[in-house]
Amino acid sequence: MIGLPTFPDLASLASVVRTCERCGLHKGRTNAVPGEGSPTARVVFIGEGPGFHEDRLGRPFVGQAGQLLDELIQGIDMRRADVFIANVLKCRPPNNRDPLPDEAEACRPYLDQQLELINPDLIVLLGRHALNAFFPDARISRARGVARRQHGRVYLPVYHPAAALRQLRLRDILSQDFQMIPKLLADATEVEPDPPPPPDTQQLSFFG
Ligand code: SF4
Repeated sequence: MIGLPTFPDLASLASVVRTCERCGLHKGRTNAVPGEGSPTARVVFIGEGPGFHEDRLGRPFVGQAGQLLDELIQGIDMRRADVFIANVLKCRPPNNRDPLPDEAEACRPYLDQQLELINPDLIVLLGRHALNAFFPDARISRARGVARRQHGRVYLPVYHPAAALRQLRLRDILSQDFQMIPKLLADATEVEPDPPPPPDTQQLSFFG
C-alpha cells in the first residue's frame, strides 16, 4: 500500500481524508469524517468510526452518543472545543459493520499522524474497537478506567458512549472513569509503568 505524505498540519490532513480513496469505504460514504477540535488539545478522544449522523454531517460524535460525550466532557469542566475528537476509521462502513483488516490498515496512518501533530498528554479510547486498535489483546471490561502507557503515550480506555446509552449501568461507570481525566492531566504519574523488557536470552542461557 502506498504510504501517506507527512502532513504539515491537521487541516491539510483533513482535506486529503475528505477525498481519500485508499480503501473501498469511500464508495459508500456521504462524507469522510477526519475529526475535529483543538490542534493543541491535551486530550484526544478516539472512537471507532462514523455512524449515520456523522457520515451525513462529516463531523465526529454528533448523534446521541455525541451528545452524551459532550455532557461527559462538560462534566469534567472542559469544552468540546478544548479537546480533539477523532475515530480510528474515517469513513462509515456499510450498516456500521466492523471494518475489514485492509480498511483499518489503510486508514490507520491518518490517525497516527493526527496524534503526532497534536501530541496530546492523554488519549481516551472510547470502546473496545478503539482500545483494540492500540492494545489488540485487551478487553474493555477489564481495561476500562485503568490508565496505561505505551511508547511514551498515556491512554485511558473507557466504555463507548453508545454502549452507555444502551445499558444504564455503564453510564455511571463511564462518568466515574471520566473523573480520572483531570487527575491524569494533573499528574501523569498515576499510570501503570511500561511492562518490563523481555528477559535477556543471553543471560538466561548463562544461568541455564
Ligand atoms: S476509511 Fe480511511 S482509508 Fe478508507 S477511504 Fe476513508 S479515509 Fe480513506
